[in-house]
Amino acid sequence: MRIETLAVHAGHRIDPATGAVTPPIYLSTTFERQVDGSYPQGYSYIRDNNPNREALEECLAQLEGGVAAAAFSSGSAATMGVFQALTPGDHVIAPEDAYSGTSYLLREILIPWGLEVTFVDMTNSTKVSAAIQPNTKLIWVETPSNPMLKITDISKISDLAHQANALCVCDNTWASPIGQNPLKNGADLVVHSTTKYLGGHSDVLGGVAISKVEDDFFNKVKTIHKAGGAVASPFDCWLVLRGIQTLPYRMRAHTENASKIATFLSEHPQVEAVYYPGLKQHPGHEIAASQMQLFGGMLSFQVKGGRDRAFAVVGKLKLVTRATSLGGVESLIEHRASIEGKETKTPENLLRMSVGLENVEDLIEDLIEALD
Ligand SMILES: *Cc1c(COP(=O)(O)O)cnc(C)c1O
Repeated sequence: MRIETLAVHAGHRIDPATGAVTPPIYLSTTFERQVDGSYPQGYSYIRDNNPNREALEECLAQLEGGVAAAAFSSGSAATMGVFQALTPGDHVIAPEDAYSGTSYLLREILIPWGLEVTFVDMTNSTKVSAAIQPNTKLIWVETPSNPMLKITDISKISDLAHQANALCVCDNTWASPIGQNPLKNGADLVVHSTTKYLGGHSDVLGGVAISKVEDDFFNKVKTIHKAGGAVASPFDCWLVLRGIQTLPYRMRAHTENASKIATFLSEHPQVEAVYYPGLKQHPGHEIAASQMQLFGGMLSFQVKGGRDRAFAVVGKLKLVTRATSLGGVESLIEHRASIEGKETKTPENLLRMSVGLENVEDLIEDLIEALD
């Protein structure tokens, strides 16, 4: 089945008890057992499994072309679950510009726990290759990256990982399963923050890890998921599953709007640079075009005149909201350097925009007034 059909139907079935077309939310924490102690419907206790979570996992695995998924309580919990499935002493290669929360987890928790981590420019395969050690077990990829929209060649990095007997894991949050399917390009696992495009309405926190095969590594991720307990709640699963039904159409509209805004900004005299993989002049455009079905709704741009000018521009916007996060129906803008703290390499005049589903002419008019 094609992606739009999967988005509407995967994980959905008519409720056998009532005929309900939309799935009920099963809040029950526990499920009745047979006299012999068995539970033939497959549910015993909410942390182990629940019908809403099972439906969401089935849907997400199908959207990414994987065989199994674990729906976590947040994207960061999914990230944590994947790294914790490694063993202290293992070596990880991660992008120097990974999502700031991922770098934070590695530095503050996982390196003290015993992982060895090398941060590299993931867009440079020579540097990735040079960073491989005998104990390298996992290479973490995030493309497009945050906030510079750098593009990593997923199949090239997957090949390097596999030559070293390591796994390649891709954080696919920014592209969504509609924009890009890393498992088809060689990655072994995909991670999403479902808080973003999958939920799509800025009203639910969640994450997922999806695996190409059901192997020992993924079983360990599942053990951490269930035993550690960072599982997505039934209502959160229900919201994400509902959000997914419109995801293919939302992603097309996000991409169409972002492309128009990127072109508009690239021609504006007050704008120094625009980062959007759909622009021909973007250094990663060719790789993006080869591995992405859609370029997505995220872009960044640098305003002429430095930090104060960047703040002045966001201060004048009326329609675009100043807030962190991304992937919702409403457009958001953020001065990333001040979020990322003192050690950030993000330029002080850079603004990151999550382009929403408003009429693009209204968004462009808002930007024209703010930039003038
Ligand atoms: C938001 C985000 C995360 C973390 O997800 P949470 O749901 O906020 O925990 C991880 N990776 C990327 C690329 C993100 O944008």
